[in-house]
This record gives sequence, C-alpha cells and structure tokens, in this order.
Amino acid sequence: MPEQWPEEKIPRWYVWWRLHDIQDGTCATCDAPAYAIDHDHRTGLIRGLLCVSCNHLEGMCGRSVQAGTHPGKPCFQAYWETPPAGPLRWLYGKTNLAHLG
Ligand SMILES: [Zn+2]
Ligand SMILES: [Zn+2]
Repeated sequence: MPEQWPEEKIPRWYVWWRLHDIQDGTCATCDAPAYAIDHDHRTGLIRGLLCVSCNHLEGMCGRSVQAGTHPGKPCFQAYWETPPAGPLRWLYGKTNLAHLG
C-alpha cells in the first residue's frame, strides 16, 4: 500500500483502516470506540479518529478557543499538537472525502 496518495485521492476506507490500526480502534483522546475521521479545518490535514463524544467536544472546544472564550488550557491541546495521523500528512480531500461523510 502506498503511503503517499495524491492528496485528493486518498480513499476514505484507507484512511479509516490505517488509523483504526494505529489507534487500536479507539478514540484518539479517550477509550471509546473510534467513530469519525477528524481533520484540521484550517490546514485540511487529517488528525485522527475520534469517538462520537470527542468529535463533538473537539468542535466546541476549538470554536471557543477561537472565540477567546475558552477557560484555561484547551482540553484538546495535546491532541492538536501531536495527532495520531500527524506524521502521515494526509490531506482531507475535498472531492473524495467530504461528500461521503
Ligand atoms: Zn473520545
Ligand atoms: Zn475545551
């Protein structure tokens, strides 16, 4: 399996399968089963798999940090800095991935 796909051609199943393997099928930030492929909306880089709850919380946390209303250190700081998929540098393809979500 090639590690470097053309950025718009990474199949969603492949991303899921590789990350599922790397993360042992669990969420990147807790022990719940992985549910969604999470990516950085600014850079488009895929970060990892999150569970239903963390996927939701991460979005809210990120928005409150951006708005400057987050109290203290962001809950997902460590995850944002060193996401499981970080070294892979996969871009969440607009064409292939977004419409399947
Ligand atoms: Zn979780
Ligand atoms: Zn937070």
